Amino acid sequence: MSEAETQEPEEETQTGNSLECRRCGRKEGLVTRYEINLCRQCFREVARDMGAKKYN
Ligand SMILES: [Zn+2]
Repeated sequence: MSEAETQEPEEETQTGNSLECRRCGRKEGLVTRYEINLCRQCFREVARDMGAKKYN
């Protein structure tokens, strides 16, 4: 049972104004602040990871 490998997001060569989550490619609830380009869900997880490291 190894669920370590996750699905790799297909990288698009488009680097224009297409705003979508760079993690899951979602366009809904995108957080464009600080150019993080993450949807709220991914932003939450990432932020939590960062916070966990911070407080560790
Ligand atoms: Zn996302």
